[in-house]
Formats: sequence, C-alpha cells, structure tokens
Amino acid sequence: MSHFIVGLTGGIGSGKTTVGLQFEALGIDSVDADIVAREIMAPGDIALTEITKRFGKQILDAQGQLDRRKLREIVFADPNEKVWLNQLTHPLIRARMFEALQQAQSPYVLLIAPLLLENGLEQHCNRVLIVDVPESVQIERTSQRDKVAATQVEQILASQINRSERLKRADDIIHNTGSIEQLQAQVDTLHHSYLLSASEKSLTK
Ligand code: ADP
Repeated sequence: MSHFIVGLTGGIGSGKTTVGLQFEALGIDSVDADIVAREIMAPGDIALTEITKRFGKQILDAQGQLDRRKLREIVFADPNEKVWLNQLTHPLIRARMFEALQQAQSPYVLLIAPLLLENGLEQHCNRVLIVDVPESVQIERTSQRDKVAATQVEQILASQINRSERLKRADDIIHNTGSIEQLQAQVDTLHHSYLLSASEKSLTK
C-alpha cells in the first residue's frame, strides 16, 4: 500500500495525462479523478440511479448510459441543479478515489485531478505537482487534441483557477513547453526525489 500521495494537476492541455503516463512507465500507480468520475456513472451505480430519478429517462441514451451532453446542458442552464449534482457525486467520487489510492502498490501514488486545488484535494496529498505551460500553449495543444475551436478552450480555461494562483500552491513544478524528452527528464528527477521522500516517510511511521 502506498502512503505517499503526489497530487498531479495543471490546467486543461498542460500535459497531466502525458506526465501520468511517464510516471506509469516508471512503475508508479495512479488514480485519475476524471476516470473515477466516469466510473461512478455506470448503469446500476447509485449515482446514475439518482440522476435518472431526478431528470427522468431522457437523461439516458439508447443503451441506458448517461447522456453526458444532456446532463451538461441541464447543469449549465441551472446552477441549482449543478449544486445538487455536485452534492451527489463529490462524496461518491472521493470515496472511490481514496479506496483506489489505498489499493495502490507502488512506493508512492499519483492522484491526477484537473480540479485538485479547486476541490481542496491538496490537503490529502504529501506533495502537489503542477504541470505548467503558458495559456497560449494550453489553447493550441487542447484545440489540436480535441479538434475544438480555441474559443471553447478559452471558456474552460476561464472556469479553472488561474495560472499564477495555481503556481503559488505548487510544491513542485514541471515546465512543459519543451520536447517530450525534456518532460521525461523532469519526471525522472522528481521520481527519484519522491522515492526518497516516500521511503523516509515510511521509516518515520
Ligand atoms: P492534459 O491531460 O493536462 O489535458 P495532455 O497530456 O492530454 O494534457 O496533453 C495535451 C496535448 O498536448 C496532448 O495531445 C499531448 O499529446 C500533447 N503534449 C503534451 N506534452 C507535449 C509536449 N511536450 N510536446 C508536444 N505535445 C505535447
């Protein structure tokens, strides 16, 4: 079981997923908050049952899966529904996330969460690692990756904590404006430092 949690965050398109994969290649387990958030919406799961009770069957697609676009439209149009949805899902996501963190086998474990700081998850982390790029790079890489207009990415950026505020709360920063090899070199350095910190922590327990 891993007792040392590294919270990995950064704005959309900064490179969290890419960095997570580089740590994974070094044998480090990770828990991705976005994936957990999707998992709790599986048919038969309590979250989807409650959502269907509230919004009716129209919230499901033909296969009985959550129609995410419809749900997004509803909560976007009505802040009260957004509050309701967050109150339902956040505790479930948290519980599932901590269960997965507990099960991790690597010397330390990554908690990858785009809204780590916004949702106060940093208090559960031993280190906060931020992947940083200028906003222009976020917009360029995200619009290329998701095939969406720059204006749409700008809207998402506006809903996230701003860059300087985010950086103030970092213990460690990865700069991702260079090549993938330069990214890997930073990951390698941090990996060694986290291995050391994790083993020191386990000795003092
Ligand atoms: P996030 O998970 O933070 O949204 P991703 O890891 O998906 O970001 O990275 C956004 C996009 O940028 C992806 O298409 C990824 O392949 C690409 N990318 C990430 N880092 C680099 C880099 N150093 N150079 C070029 N492209 C990169």
